[in-house]
Amino acid sequence: MNLKKNWKPIIERFQVKLSKWKSKTLSFGGRLTLIQSVLGNVPTYFLSLFVALAGVIQTLEKMRNRFLWGASEEKKTIHWILWDTVVAPKESGGLGNGVWNYIAGIRKDLVNKDISVPSVLSKQPTANGVTWRCELSSNGIYTVCALRHRWDYRPHNIDGKFFWLNEIPLKVNCFIWRAKRGRIPVALELSKRGVVLENLTCPMCNEYEECADHVLVDCPYVRKVFEGLSRWCSVNTEDFHTVKDVVDSVSQRGMCHNRRSKILLAVYYGALWSIWKSRNERVFKKNRIPPDKVNDTIKSVTYLWVKNRGKLDKIN
Ligand SMILES: [Zn+2]
Repeated sequence: MNLKKNWKPIIERFQVKLSKWKSKTLSFGGRLTLIQSVLGNVPTYFLSLFVALAGVIQTLEKMRNRFLWGASEEKKTIHWILWDTVVAPKESGGLGNGVWNYIAGIRKDLVNKDISVPSVLSKQPTANGVTWRCELSSNGIYTVCALRHRWDYRPHNIDGKFFWLNEIPLKVNCFIWRAKRGRIPVALELSKRGVVLENLTCPMCNEYEECADHVLVDCPYVRKVFEGLSRWCSVNTEDFHTVKDVVDSVSQRGMCHNRRSKILLAVYYGALWSIWKSRNERVFKKNRIPPDKVNDTIKSVTYLWVKNRGKLDKIN
């Protein structure tokens, strides 16, 4: 198994799983689930038997990345978030995509991933001379588990922790996770990625450039939606200027574990999602939905999500 050509059947099997129709018909959340639950396990058996070539792992990871963003051999798409961020653990702000499954037990490849053996071993003088101590575990003994922990928690240049809410659909969580980083298909971001557009103006107010923070939070149209939200939830939304402000408003106060905070966060996520839907309605169907109608939508979607998924049945 030392030659890349010997891995061809596994790569081909992987390719079959990533057939085009699946990518086209699934939402971002659906594709994420597929690459995590099914595709993440395909080569694990082989990789546990043989030392995989770094090139093989790169090929498989590239295929998973392409699939997540709806691309295929023939069709390129924009990869909105770096793959390193996507595969980072959720504790570090990623999607917890478990790249470790591919490389468990493969020390050679960990070296390629910036973890060198000398960096985790140190010399310890003893009465009989010198012994080696592993810096990854408190008892100084090397284990695969300790090495895995180092890999999973290596520093990531990611903007803070994201609070994943079980009460709302995965696709909505994923959308807000991306929006917090500004990586959604708004005019400014598309233009940065080489898409030629007639103008970059916000379709809701026609005054400012359309970036994620503006069209989801700071636009005059959205301010009107937030005013209604403030009256409904008795919360102050005046200080919200970015998606990060909205998402962090509850989680930064460490309140995410009580029922009221979870519902409030579900309302905020529901608001960002409904505002985005309203923006798309304007862009693609030329319909202008009044802010009070968006508020009605926020109330109904949040109520249904929390009631059906969250087992939190007393929501007013
Ligand atoms: Zn605007």
